[in-house]
Order: sequence, then structure tokens, then C-alpha cells
Amino acid sequence: MNNIRIDLFSDTITKPTQKMREFMCVAEVGDEQQREDPTVNMLVDMVCELLDKEDAIFVPSGTMCNQISFRVYCRPGDEIIMDHTAHTRHYEAGGPAALSGATMYTIEGRRGIFTGSQVEAAIRPAENHFPRSRVVLIEQTSNMGGGSIWPLETIEEVCSLANKHGLARHMDGARLLNAVVATRISAEAYAANFDSLWIDFSKGLGAPVGAVLAGSKDFIKEAWRWKQQFGGAMRQAGIIAAGAVYALKHHVERLAEDHENAQILAQGLAEIDGITVEPVETNLVFFDVAGLGITGSAFNESLIPHGIRFSIIGEFVVRGVTHLDVSRAQIEEALDCIRKMVEKIAAPNPGKV
Ligand SMILES: *Cc1c(COP(=O)(O)O)cnc(C)c1O
Repeated sequence: MNNIRIDLFSDTITKPTQKMREFMCVAEVGDEQQREDPTVNMLVDMVCELLDKEDAIFVPSGTMCNQISFRVYCRPGDEIIMDHTAHTRHYEAGGPAALSGATMYTIEGRRGIFTGSQVEAAIRPAENHFPRSRVVLIEQTSNMGGGSIWPLETIEEVCSLANKHGLARHMDGARLLNAVVATRISAEAYAANFDSLWIDFSKGLGAPVGAVLAGSKDFIKEAWRWKQQFGGAMRQAGIIAAGAVYALKHHVERLAEDHENAQILAQGLAEIDGITVEPVETNLVFFDVAGLGITGSAFNESLIPHGIRFSIIGEFVVRGVTHLDVSRAQIEEALDCIRKMVEKIAAPNPGKV
């Protein structure tokens, strides 16, 4: 993988910039478990302010933020309602079942987004046969929904129905700030609808490690207990929290560049016969290569020798993610390379591969 120069695999592959590293190097540190790390405390305060929540905790990963939250809300046999594409359902190693004894009820949303009436239909009657509906989970932006943005009105509708039925409202905000930059709706306005939510620093924000989970004082008090139990309480964590502080100061507005690059990539791909591109709202570009007569992995494999990499989502579905380590010129270069590759496929034996 070392020869990959244009890595569209994910925004998780971003590396700390020189300036971020320098900022991390000189961070003041203390014992995080005692809440004595000044840099972690600074980060937590910044996120509380950004999301207008009472308290927050610094955690090693977004996955742990989700799992801690479910552990706070659920007792064994409880149910978490989410879209069928949710990260929690597919990519967290069965965490809700293993760690909280919770089951998952999945809704067939559109591009990862479901409606108030779908939630109402999903909430179980209070009767002994049924699992107890306990939490509604919303992913902003929806990863497997194609980087789609939950409209604020839909969030309000879903969350007020959840609240009416006594369910907790939790946001997986791994890419919330992408939605904020794309819509110019504040993080606070989105967050106002949720009892708990978190943002990830190791995605497009470009920090090496970390996420912050926010909520009420009571929620965070409980969350600390599970952070400790899950092994997420740290010591001189300021050294990594500093990357997140730096990212909040310098890497939020620049997400707009990633969104522009995603549009350029999408337009370029859409102009190629045989490639169908899904609508692009943020930094994720999903496209189908079935029309080229090759699979997604064959598509990807043919680009790897040129130092270009995508990720494979389905047999024919490929995902490209733009981020701070891919420039506009590199997007153009990747498109050139794909056009040449497609010509080669088409030339020797038209209609057949
Ligand atoms: C990446 C991601 C997570 C998990 O975050 P990690 O920091 O990798 O554990 C959760 N939800 C979504 C939508 C993600 O994209």
C-alpha cells in the first residue's frame, strides 16, 4: 500500500500535518482519568461550546462513543432503532449485543435517512412480548447512505416523535461537521435535538486519534463509568487531544474543499460511459461500475499500480472519499487515469471483458 499516492479509500487515512504534529508536541498534559489533563479539558470545553451541551468526554474512537452511549441507555433486551445501513449495525463488531445486551431494529431509509412515520411504526408498544424500544440513532452524515445529509426538519420530526415515546435520541456525528460546512446550519442547531452525540477527529478533520461524546451532566457522569469499564479512560491523553484541538481550529472550514473535490470527482466519473454516480452531498462519492463490465474490485485493482485507491462497497459499487491529503490536481490525475483505463477496457474487445 506504500505506493498509493492518491488515496480515496477513506478520510480515515489522513495523517497529521507538520503543524498539527508541532502543536501536539508541546501540549500540556496531565492525568486524564482524574480530569487533570489541561489539553483534554480544553478540547472538551471547545466541543461543549460547539454543540451547546453541558458536558463531554474524550474517547479513543467513535465506535466507543456509540457503545458507551448504548450502555448508558440500554438494559439487556432493549432495542436501538437505526437505519439498515448504520455503521453501528455493520462495523462495530456486534457491540450493542455484546456490551449492552441490546438488539437492533433496522429501518429501510432512503440514503440512510428515515422519516418520522417510519420511526413511529418501529417503536414497540409497551407490552411484555416486545423488546423495549429505547434509543433512536441517527448518523449525520450517513456514511453508507452516500454521505447524505439529514435535513434539520427530518431530524426534528424523528427526534420529537422519539422523545414523545420516551426514547433517547443519539447522533453518530462522525461527519457532523461535514454537514455543518455543507449546509451552513450550525452544529448547535443539529445537536439541540439529541440527548447525546459525538464528533470524530480521525476522519476528515485529520487528527490521528479521538472522538468527543457530549450530552447532559447526568449522561456524561454515567458515560464516564462505561468509558472506564471499556478501557477508554486514559492518562496523558492531551498529547492526542491536541491534534483534535488543532483540527477544530484549523481543519473545519477547509472541509468545503473536500466537498468541492468530491463534486469534481463525481462529475468526471459521471461523464464516463458505463459509470453511474450517486448524488454527492459532502465528501463521499459512491458510484457503480457495472456498466463497464467489470467488478468494483477489478476497477480498483487496475488503478492500484498507478498509485490510486478506492474502497469497494458492493460487487459493482465503489466509494471515493475526498480529504485533506488529496488535492484538486490529484483528483484530476485520478480521473485521467480512470479514463485511460476505461478506454483500454473498451478498445481491444468491445462489449466483452
Ligand atoms: C468511522 C465511523 C464510525 C466509527 O468511528 P471510529 O473512530 O473509526 O471508531 C462510526 N460511525 C460512522 C458513521 C463512521 O463513519
